[in-house]
Amino acid sequence: MSRARKSTHQAAQSAELAAPGGITAAAAGAEGAEPAPFTTFALDFLSARGATLTQKGPLDWDAALPADLAKKWRRGGLRLVFDSERAVLPRGGVFAAPGSIAGLKLLEAARGQGHVARFHAPARPRVDARALAGEGLVLHDVDTGTPTLEAVRHVVLVGFHLTLTFTGGSPEQDLRSILADPRIPTFDFWEPEDRKRAGLLPGFPDGFTPPTFDRAALWQAGELWMERVLEPRALRWKRKAEEGRDKDLARLNAFYQTRIQEERERRRRRRSEDAESEEPETEAALKLEWGRRTKAVRSRYEPAIETRLWAVEEIARPRQPVVYPLTAGGKPVGSFEVEVDLAAGALVRPPCPVCGRAAGEFWWEADGLACRRCRGRRPKPRSAPPAPPSRGAPDGPARAASRRRKGG
Ligand SMILES: [Zn+2]
Repeated sequence: MSRARKSTHQAAQSAELAAPGGITAAAAGAEGAEPAPFTTFALDFLSARGATLTQKGPLDWDAALPADLAKKWRRGGLRLVFDSERAVLPRGGVFAAPGSIAGLKLLEAARGQGHVARFHAPARPRVDARALAGEGLVLHDVDTGTPTLEAVRHVVLVGFHLTLTFTGGSPEQDLRSILADPRIPTFDFWEPEDRKRAGLLPGFPDGFTPPTFDRAALWQAGELWMERVLEPRALRWKRKAEEGRDKDLARLNAFYQTRIQEERERRRRRRSEDAESEEPETEAALKLEWGRRTKAVRSRYEPAIETRLWAVEEIARPRQPVVYPLTAGGKPVGSFEVEVDLAAGALVRPPCPVCGRAAGEFWWEADGLACRRCRGRRPKPRSAPPAPPSRGAPDGPARAASRRRKGG
């Protein structure tokens, strides 16, 4: 299974060494309990590292550790309970979740080893790729001939599992998974439901040589993609943190303003009684404290998003390419290749040639295909005219008023 392959990438190399062992996805979630990606990953990692796993109950596993891990963790075994709702732990048992002590230990070990869990999706029988492609794909302003089917191939998709921690005020945590196609690359969120539904089997298919790609670079691109996609969420988070901060600052300011006012009041009264005992340092001390607490509030609400990648999975999926010959105005204008996923029994929405986003509907223009968003944005002879100046501010209100009159 782990065919030795020359690779300079260290993570890729150690991943080869740590190719998955005997654990099956089905066993991980036996007795109806749904395994979360973390459960599957942790069990797969332990099994790949030579641990002997015994299931004690739903989401409850006993792992007899191999010598090196036993030495590292100073214990011969781990009783892992993946069910966080369970009220009572078995003797010697620990809760295992990505953020728990046991979870962090496992993840750290897995990361150190560059562990990548590998699975494959089995093809469904009798999938009519041509029909599925025809149902799922809509092309406008171009004629398609009879599509040809190419040989079925396996495509490796990479699943990144990560924890996002939103800090600033009271922190929030999101568990997210991203599924990437390293060939282009494209990214999409991967819901736990989708992973469960996929019916994945352990390991890569027999005789399949996975393609090489730079996993670190792919993750970097994935992080950038996620940052872009989560921008609205990050903005909302920032606004919420700022609101919390301003509320706390207002409270703080009111408190110290009152205190200082009281202090001055007291001093004035005291001065009339006894001119000797002045305490100007009290106000200075209050102001100092005020400043310090203001700073503390500001830093407590400083919004930030921490990303922690905790597991990587590679999934080989059987795909059949379907190639459409294209003609425009009676002339052949090339071809368009799409893929049908034989395990899902569905068209894989192809990436838009302009923006790279997956889409099911395309328009032919300027000698190429473009998705709905990219219509009119295909790179022609580049002569982007400057925006018409009439959109400026001066006539804003007047225009709005006239439009209103028209409407009413
Ligand atoms: Zn597009």
